[in-house]
Amino acid sequence: MGCFASKNQKQFLGYEDPIQLASQTAFSVSEVEALFELFRSISSSIIDDGLISKEEFHLALFKDKKKDNLFANRVFTLFDVKQKGNIDFGDFVRSLNVFHPNAAQDDKIDFSFRLYDLDGNGFIDRNEVKQMLNVLLNESDMHLATETVDLIIDKTFSEADANHDGKIDREEWKTFVTRNPAMLKIMTLPYLRDITTTFPSFVFNSEVEDIAT
Ligand code: CA
Ligand code: MN
Repeated sequence: MGCFASKNQKQFLGYEDPIQLASQTAFSVSEVEALFELFRSISSSIIDDGLISKEEFHLALFKDKKKDNLFANRVFTLFDVKQKGNIDFGDFVRSLNVFHPNAAQDDKIDFSFRLYDLDGNGFIDRNEVKQMLNVLLNESDMHLATETVDLIIDKTFSEADANHDGKIDREEWKTFVTRNPAMLKIMTLPYLRDITTTFPSFVFNSEVEDIAT
């Protein structure tokens, strides 16, 4: 990771100074450099244009290009900070930063709220919790009866929806997850603490090349 500032990288579209990015995030300069390698790998997996498209994002997360994954779509939308339809390097680092073990709890709470508020109307309703639960259960190959899922949602709402209007607002969410920190577990990726040694296997994923050709 020594010779980061090569000419090539400086000309890379969406390039941002790693020193600057490190100062704004929990990442060190060398970790930002490692993230740049990861970013380059993902952003070139289909079209090498210096930006991560939705398809490339899916490919990196799930090793395929399927676009109908609700969770991945929502994460992509939130990573696409400038709402340009793609993720540039700055978006990528600042968004991943929220998942860093040392990131502020409030940032994690805010991100998780927007993650569950699928239509972005400022409230999490029953249907949104249900859709997210189903996605997470599918991803983890867990199968729960519909009644069990409904019970989980009932319990969530009886605890979280303090004003009983059938939806969870930002303040209710904050109170709820502060009392139930397990709800924020998916908001911390422990390996982000040690990315320079962790990512190589993720970066040089042979299946990405197979599909891209
Ligand atoms: Ca909503
Ligand atoms: Mn409410």
